[in-house]
Amino acid sequence: MALFTPLRRWQPAFRPFGRLPVGGRLLAFVERAVKGPLFGCRMCGNCLLQETAFICHMACPKGIRNGPCGGVTNGYCYVDPTRKCAWHLIYERSERMHREKKLLEVLPPVDWDRAGGETWGDVIRKVREAGPGNIILHSRRKGMTMGAVMEEKVFRPIRQPEWWQGDAEYHPPAVDGPQSELEKELHSGRFVFTTEVMPPLSAATDRLTEKINLLKPYVAAINFTDGSSAVPKMSSAACSTIAASLGADPVMQISARDNNRNSLQSQAIGANAIGVHNILCLSGDSPRVGPKPRSNMNIIDVDSVQMLWILRRMRDEGIYLDGREIRNRPRLFLGAAAAPLIQKPELQLIRDIKKVNAGAQFLQTNLVFDPDSLDPWLERLRSVGLPDRVFVLIGVSPLKSLRLARYLNDHIPGVTIPDRIMKRLADAGNGFAEESIRITVENIRRLRDKGGVHGVHIMPLGWESVVPQIIEQALS
Ligand code: SF4
Repeated sequence: MALFTPLRRWQPAFRPFGRLPVGGRLLAFVERAVKGPLFGCRMCGNCLLQETAFICHMACPKGIRNGPCGGVTNGYCYVDPTRKCAWHLIYERSERMHREKKLLEVLPPVDWDRAGGETWGDVIRKVREAGPGNIILHSRRKGMTMGAVMEEKVFRPIRQPEWWQGDAEYHPPAVDGPQSELEKELHSGRFVFTTEVMPPLSAATDRLTEKINLLKPYVAAINFTDGSSAVPKMSSAACSTIAASLGADPVMQISARDNNRNSLQSQAIGANAIGVHNILCLSGDSPRVGPKPRSNMNIIDVDSVQMLWILRRMRDEGIYLDGREIRNRPRLFLGAAAAPLIQKPELQLIRDIKKVNAGAQFLQTNLVFDPDSLDPWLERLRSVGLPDRVFVLIGVSPLKSLRLARYLNDHIPGVTIPDRIMKRLADAGNGFAEESIRITVENIRRLRDKGGVHGVHIMPLGWESVVPQIIEQALS
């Protein structure tokens, strides 16, 4: 265990992809020898220790640089439940050091060209560029501490390279008018319904088409999951294409787990070409929860916050991550997931603000079975003005069986089914389906009355046939 990073290192340190010059090799050797025992450093070559309260975030199995992810369970990592979540530890120490604000900055993905190399050389080069004398003068003239000047002139330019330029500011969408039918509907001020269809396990599309046709008249948009629970199925892109061809407005989910920065950008451009404009950016479940043999569990290339940042800039600034210009910019309405009840409220708020600042225009939450439990979260969103910047859709679900209810309650992070609901379901006997639908309708009606809630996202979990009935009853 490293001295300053209270976590075992997940995997060995990275090695450079090519031979470094002698000076670089020497510096990398020393850096590794010092930062290994102190921070469990993996030599990612893109050090963020300054921003992460000196806990190496590369101890996170997903390598998430804007964490935590939505899987954290009671402060522990769901990929390896024997370890605390690296990002929870980062938040707790940042709080003690009064550095929480640093966590709001949208941090860049790893520049893999630099992995395995040194980072101290950057500091030396930046100090030289700025001029040590100028740094001292700047501090005296502006009345800034040396630490603040070093942050402005040296550390920030290192961690926010030209090709990224991340910050902690909100960037309103720089586009005219709604980019999709879902966005248009949300702007109308009506209470919006979206739903979700699980992509088929086979290449047959008849059931999928049937479900889309059934749901289309009732909802503003239909989500298609992207290998949820790390299980291969028909791709979200294929399902979204079919939905668009049938006249529905699809929400294409893209999971960072299965996409690197290149495929993410290609997918976004491709989606536009086939009439898909809503994209929901997710980090994705770890392969650890999926079937065997498992795929790479070590690291993901971009996290959901970075995905939003990249796609927003493609739309608003017309640039790819590598700086190439996009002549016909993609029309995108960007969304993200939220888990209101999963972790420390303050940490969740940082996460929500960060996603909205990066580009999220709508949030779809995980499943909520007790609408009143959301009040503190909604109040926190209001306190920072988020309802003016993002549409909030709360996840609800009709439970098909008591077994499913128990499974969700016991195994899905952030999902709690109150005892009174469990009791109603358990006592329902032959009237289970009607009682389950009644509970869902009641919850939707209570959510409609809450300020800052713009609609619900119905996740039928394979029970799509009851969605029209639920919506009709909720609106009656
Ligand atoms: S994978 Fe998720 S839960 Fe595990 S350490 Fe990383 S952010 Fe935390």
